[in-house]
Amino acid sequence: MAVQVISPLVEVAKQAFRKPTTIEFPEQQERRTDNYNGKHKLDMKTCISCGACARICPNQTITMVDTDTERGTKKMPEINWERCLFCALCEEVCPTDCLILTKQTDYEVYDRRDLIKRPEELE
Ligand code: SF4
Ligand code: SF4
Repeated sequence: MAVQVISPLVEVAKQAFRKPTTIEFPEQQERRTDNYNGKHKLDMKTCISCGACARICPNQTITMVDTDTERGTKKMPEINWERCLFCALCEEVCPTDCLILTKQTDYEVYDRRDLIKRPEELE
């Protein structure tokens, strides 16, 4: 009988002092591998509006939209992270290297429509 009572208590005590397997996000972030693909970053100053990123995208994630820039209204990529595969083909094909994938992964939104990012939001 004593064993039946003590054994669970010992287990509880052991678990209480175990290192947590979860992390305090977003203060703590998991370590990313060198080839990890996260959120896109766009340099609107060097984007030439060629549309290659939108054409290569295998999941129709990128839409070229009218965007106000210092050079007038230009077509620039709007990206829907909800549909993105993070394959990095858009980064690979970009002729001016203005579109890159970072290691950032903080996508929390209350409305899924907020996962559609206009060019200005990707800067
Ligand atoms: S990472 Fe891949 S799926 Fe995502 S926008 Fe770029 S080409 Fe499309
Ligand atoms: S982000 Fe790169 S590939 Fe896409 S339109 Fe601009 S220059 Fe072209």
